[in-house]
Amino acid sequence: MAILPIITAPDPRLNRPAQPVAKVDASIRRLMDDMLETMYLAPGIGLAAPQVGVLKRVIVVDCAKTGDKPKPYKLANPEILWRSEEQLTNNEGCLSLPEHYADVSRPAEIKVRYIDEQNEIRELHAKGLLATCIQHEIDHLEGVLFVDHISSLKRGIILRKLTKAKRLKAPAPV
Ligand SMILES: [Zn+2]
Repeated sequence: MAILPIITAPDPRLNRPAQPVAKVDASIRRLMDDMLETMYLAPGIGLAAPQVGVLKRVIVVDCAKTGDKPKPYKLANPEILWRSEEQLTNNEGCLSLPEHYADVSRPAEIKVRYIDEQNEIRELHAKGLLATCIQHEIDHLEGVLFVDHISSLKRGIILRKLTKAKRLKAPAPV
Protein backbone atom coordinates (compact mmCIF):
# COMPACT_ATOMS: atom_id res chain seq x y z
CA MET A 1 0.00 0.00 0.00
CA ALA A 2 1.04 3.58 -0.49
CA ILE A 3 0.38 6.96 1.06
CA LEU A 4 -1.02 9.35 -1.55
CA PRO A 5 -0.54 13.14 -1.48
CA ILE A 6 -3.79 14.95 -0.59
CA ILE A 7 -4.73 17.98 -2.70
CA THR A 8 -5.73 21.06 -0.69
CA ALA A 9 -8.09 23.85 -1.73
CA PRO A 10 -8.13 26.05 -3.65
CA ASP A 11 -7.27 23.72 -6.53
CA PRO A 12 -9.29 23.28 -9.76
CA ARG A 13 -8.92 19.49 -9.48
CA LEU A 14 -11.25 19.59 -6.46
CA ASN A 15 -14.02 21.26 -8.49
CA ARG A 16 -14.35 18.71 -11.30
CA PRO A 17 -16.90 15.90 -11.47
CA ALA A 18 -15.43 12.37 -11.28
CA GLN A 19 -16.08 9.57 -13.79
CA PRO A 20 -17.88 6.32 -12.91
CA VAL A 21 -15.79 3.18 -12.46
CA ALA A 22 -16.52 0.50 -15.11
CA LYS A 23 -15.56 -2.40 -12.83
CA VAL A 24 -13.91 -2.76 -9.44
CA ASP A 25 -10.77 -4.62 -10.50
CA ALA A 26 -7.32 -5.00 -8.93
CA SER A 27 -6.31 -1.43 -9.76
CA ILE A 28 -9.45 0.07 -8.14
CA ARG A 29 -9.01 -2.25 -5.11
CA ARG A 30 -5.46 -0.97 -4.77
CA LEU A 31 -6.68 2.64 -5.07
CA MET A 32 -9.26 1.95 -2.31
CA ASP A 33 -6.60 0.44 -0.02
CA ASP A 34 -4.15 3.29 -0.67
CA MET A 35 -6.91 5.83 0.01
CA LEU A 36 -7.82 4.13 3.30
CA GLU A 37 -4.21 4.05 4.44
CA THR A 38 -3.80 7.73 3.47
CA MET A 39 -7.02 8.61 5.34
CA TYR A 40 -6.03 6.75 8.53
CA LEU A 41 -2.62 8.40 8.57
CA ALA A 42 -3.96 11.95 7.99
CA PRO A 43 -6.04 11.21 10.20
CA GLY A 44 -9.51 11.54 8.72
CA ILE A 45 -12.84 9.68 8.62
CA GLY A 46 -13.44 9.91 4.87
CA LEU A 47 -11.60 10.45 1.61
CA ALA A 48 -12.72 10.74 -2.02
CA ALA A 49 -10.53 9.84 -5.02
CA PRO A 50 -10.50 13.42 -6.46
CA GLN A 51 -8.73 14.50 -3.23
CA VAL A 52 -5.76 12.37 -4.28
CA GLY A 53 -5.97 13.56 -7.90
CA VAL A 54 -7.91 10.58 -9.29
CA LEU A 55 -11.13 11.65 -11.01
CA LYS A 56 -12.96 8.36 -10.39
CA ARG A 57 -16.14 7.79 -8.39
CA VAL A 58 -14.48 6.04 -5.44
CA ILE A 59 -14.77 6.97 -1.74
CA VAL A 60 -13.63 5.41 1.53
CA VAL A 61 -15.01 6.13 5.02
CA ASP A 62 -14.52 4.85 8.54
CA CYS A 63 -16.57 6.54 11.25
CA ALA A 64 -15.73 4.09 14.07
CA LYS A 65 -15.06 5.89 17.36
CA THR A 66 -11.44 6.27 18.44
CA GLY A 67 -10.43 3.10 20.28
CA ASP A 68 -13.20 0.99 18.64
CA LYS A 69 -12.53 -1.65 16.00
CA PRO A 70 -12.03 -0.03 12.55
CA LYS A 71 -15.11 -0.21 10.32
CA PRO A 72 -13.95 0.75 6.82
CA TYR A 73 -16.31 1.11 3.88
CA LYS A 74 -15.01 1.18 0.31
CA LEU A 75 -17.56 2.47 -2.19
CA ALA A 76 -17.37 2.74 -5.97
CA ASN A 77 -20.07 4.63 -7.93
CA PRO A 78 -22.03 5.51 -4.75
CA GLU A 79 -25.54 6.76 -5.46
CA ILE A 80 -28.00 8.14 -2.92
CA LEU A 81 -31.35 6.36 -3.41
CA TRP A 82 -33.21 7.98 -0.51
CA ARG A 83 -32.72 10.87 1.94
CA SER A 84 -34.63 11.47 5.18
CA GLU A 85 -36.61 14.69 5.66
CA GLU A 86 -34.95 15.01 9.03
CA GLN A 87 -31.73 17.00 8.94
CA LEU A 88 -28.61 16.67 11.04
CA THR A 89 -26.05 19.43 11.61
CA ASN A 90 -22.44 18.42 12.07
CA ASN A 91 -19.34 20.54 12.43
CA GLU A 92 -17.56 19.34 9.27
CA GLY A 93 -13.92 19.41 8.36
CA CYS A 94 -12.10 18.15 5.27
CA LEU A 95 -8.58 16.86 4.60
CA SER A 96 -8.53 19.20 1.58
CA LEU A 97 -9.38 22.24 3.75
CA PRO A 98 -7.04 21.58 6.67
CA GLU A 99 -7.81 23.24 9.99
CA HIS A 100 -11.13 24.74 8.86
CA TYR A 101 -14.53 23.66 10.18
CA ALA A 102 -18.12 24.78 9.70
CA ASP A 103 -21.62 23.60 10.65
CA VAL A 104 -23.34 21.91 7.71
CA SER A 105 -26.92 20.55 7.71
CA ARG A 106 -27.65 17.45 5.66
CA PRO A 107 -30.28 14.66 5.67
CA ALA A 108 -29.85 12.65 8.90
CA GLU A 109 -30.35 9.26 7.15
CA ILE A 110 -29.66 8.05 3.64
CA LYS A 111 -29.86 4.87 1.58
CA VAL A 112 -26.89 4.40 -0.76
CA ARG A 113 -26.27 1.93 -3.57
CA TYR A 114 -22.64 1.24 -4.48
CA ILE A 115 -20.19 -1.34 -5.79
CA ASP A 116 -17.98 -2.89 -3.11
CA GLU A 117 -14.38 -4.06 -3.35
CA GLN A 118 -15.55 -7.47 -4.65
CA ASN A 119 -17.38 -5.74 -7.54
CA GLU A 120 -20.74 -6.63 -5.94
CA ILE A 121 -23.66 -4.19 -5.92
CA ARG A 122 -24.67 -3.36 -2.33
CA GLU A 123 -27.01 -1.07 -0.46
CA LEU A 124 -26.28 0.66 2.81
CA HIS A 125 -28.63 2.47 5.17
CA ALA A 126 -26.55 5.06 6.99
CA LYS A 127 -27.44 7.48 9.75
CA GLY A 128 -25.71 9.94 12.04
CA LEU A 129 -22.05 10.67 11.42
CA LEU A 130 -21.75 7.90 8.80
CA ALA A 131 -24.58 9.47 6.75
CA THR A 132 -22.95 12.91 7.02
CA CYS A 133 -19.56 11.53 6.02
CA ILE A 134 -20.84 9.58 3.00
CA GLN A 135 -22.73 12.65 1.73
CA HIS A 136 -19.63 14.82 2.21
CA GLU A 137 -17.53 12.33 0.20
CA ILE A 138 -20.14 11.92 -2.57
CA ASP A 139 -20.11 15.74 -2.87
CA HIS A 140 -16.40 15.52 -3.70
CA LEU A 141 -17.31 13.30 -6.69
CA GLU A 142 -19.37 16.23 -8.02
CA GLY A 143 -16.62 18.76 -7.36
CA VAL A 144 -18.47 20.13 -4.32
CA LEU A 145 -16.75 21.00 -1.03
CA PHE A 146 -18.37 21.45 2.39
CA VAL A 147 -17.74 25.20 2.13
CA ASP A 148 -20.14 25.25 -0.85
CA HIS A 149 -22.93 24.55 1.69
CA ILE A 150 -22.18 27.59 3.88
CA SER A 151 -22.58 31.34 3.32
CA SER A 152 -20.39 32.88 0.61
CA LEU A 153 -19.01 35.24 3.25
CA LYS A 154 -17.72 32.37 5.44
CA ARG A 155 -16.55 30.44 2.35
CA GLY A 156 -14.59 33.46 1.14
CA ILE A 157 -12.83 33.83 4.51
CA ILE A 158 -11.81 30.14 4.60
CA LEU A 159 -10.61 30.07 0.98
CA ARG A 160 -8.59 33.27 1.41
CA LYS A 161 -6.87 31.79 4.48
CA LEU A 162 -6.10 28.58 2.56
CA THR A 163 -4.70 30.54 -0.40
CA LYS A 164 -2.46 32.47 1.97
CA ALA A 165 -1.32 29.28 3.73
CA LYS A 166 -0.47 27.75 0.34
CA ARG A 167 1.56 30.79 -0.69
CA LEU A 168 3.57 30.60 2.55
CA LYS A 169 4.25 26.90 1.96
CA ALA A 170 5.33 27.31 -1.69
CA PRO A 171 9.09 27.27 -2.31
CA ALA A 172 10.67 30.69 -2.81
CA PRO A 173 11.15 31.62 -6.47
CA VAL A 174 14.73 31.45 -7.78
ZN1 LIG B 1 -13.69 16.40 2.23
